[in-house]
Amino acid sequence: MHRSVRAESRSTIHYPGAMTGGLRPRRIALISVHTSPLAQAGTGDAGGMNVYVWQTATRLAKRGVEVEIFTRATSSSDAPTEQAAPGVTVHHVPAGPFDGLDKHDLPGQLCAFSANVLRAEAAQEPGYYDLIHSHYWLSGQVGWLARDRWGVPLVHTAHTLAAVKNASLADGDTAEPKLRVIGEQQVVDEADLLVVNTPTEASELVDLYGADPARVDVVVPGADLERYSPGDRLAARARVGLRPDDVVVTFVGRIQPLKAPDVLLRAMAPLIRSDAAGRLRLLVVGGASGNGAGLPEALVDLAAGLGVSAGVTFLPPQAPADLADVYRASDLVAVPSYSESFGLVALEAQACGVPVIAANVGGLGVAVADGVSGVLVDGHDIEAWTARLAALLADPARLRSMGTQAAIHARAFSWDHTTDALLGSYERAMAAYRRGAGRQTGLFGLRRRRTRPRVTI
Ligand code: UDP
Repeated sequence: MHRSVRAESRSTIHYPGAMTGGLRPRRIALISVHTSPLAQAGTGDAGGMNVYVWQTATRLAKRGVEVEIFTRATSSSDAPTEQAAPGVTVHHVPAGPFDGLDKHDLPGQLCAFSANVLRAEAAQEPGYYDLIHSHYWLSGQVGWLARDRWGVPLVHTAHTLAAVKNASLADGDTAEPKLRVIGEQQVVDEADLLVVNTPTEASELVDLYGADPARVDVVVPGADLERYSPGDRLAARARVGLRPDDVVVTFVGRIQPLKAPDVLLRAMAPLIRSDAAGRLRLLVVGGASGNGAGLPEALVDLAAGLGVSAGVTFLPPQAPADLADVYRASDLVAVPSYSESFGLVALEAQACGVPVIAANVGGLGVAVADGVSGVLVDGHDIEAWTARLAALLADPARLRSMGTQAAIHARAFSWDHTTDALLGSYERAMAAYRRGAGRQTGLFGLRRRRTRPRVTI
């Protein structure tokens, strides 16, 4: 997946590949304003980005790069600074009250957050950080200021893009605000290098935000292949609380309209109702997204309304070790999202030897090998999903052989590859910055970069 320099067919897409022995950062500031990599993923604001930040930070540290992560303090018990792993420090930055703030309130706290990041750096010797990597647009805003102050390159990963999400909203979902679209646009214009998950995301940045293709690197995310590997299905079922002969379709992720768990539930309902033996089961793992806490009540009510409560099991967010058992216990994992910049759950399930049925959107087309390790479904028509699910569930031999292929497919993706490719991107950003490209983006109006088409808001 991680090609060494550029995609052959699309000269505009950069695959940075591994380090080439050039400028390696000694220490980087990694900014993740709205969510801590130490948070349990699968609920609230914690998901794939947290996993990405943690997995790459710990691997960067193993490669000799010191990583300091800045995230907002959200609890009085957060130590200001914590050594979270060898070579990885987490700074809990005061910016607004610990709780009661929604992600949408955080733009109002960016000044406080940035000021405290700048103060932390000012207490160190000059040249303390070699590079900044910001995650999500809120962090990009902080990174932009710090980059200009410190004179080091800013690498930015958006993780999700408002313009993309707004173009494929679920029924009843709220559009991302103008404020975010404008903020993302500014970060795209200002970052020295933009790292994206897939070629699709690279095109979206170029087409919708007018990003300069020469400043976009594709670095494909990975799975923790030590944690997520095939294992004893029956033992996993016993640990998860499933019967040996259950037929299990599983959803894993934050319960939010974007992830379309309701589409899956509606599509599964006729199959569950017509399963006289009562073996077919939908397992839903995860908590409410955003500030919603506890069980996803709307989904519980929907199951009751559809008359399938007995066939649906809800589990709270699971730690990775337990999640591996959830995947292993499943016959099929479903990722019906309306939009997905990559879809780590799809990859992790396959790494456990379980095939995936996924919506044909965003990065899922890369994460799933259609017809080999799983199937991709166009659109969100309930009957179409029911038909695809029914066909797969009626053919256990095909499911098993796709599961075998899934484990092989997933082995091409690992966080080690991702980290090596990221280091390649850092090297590229630092070299370009030293050559002077970055300095044109310096503080106090040294430049105004190109005029490019702006994203429509
Ligand atoms: N996750 C978890 N426990 C859960 C549910 C999810 O640890 O109960 C993790 C999962 O392993 C995956 C991440 O949350 O790594 C979700 O990432 P994905 O890319 O699928 O979705 P996102 O949250 O980024 O939209």
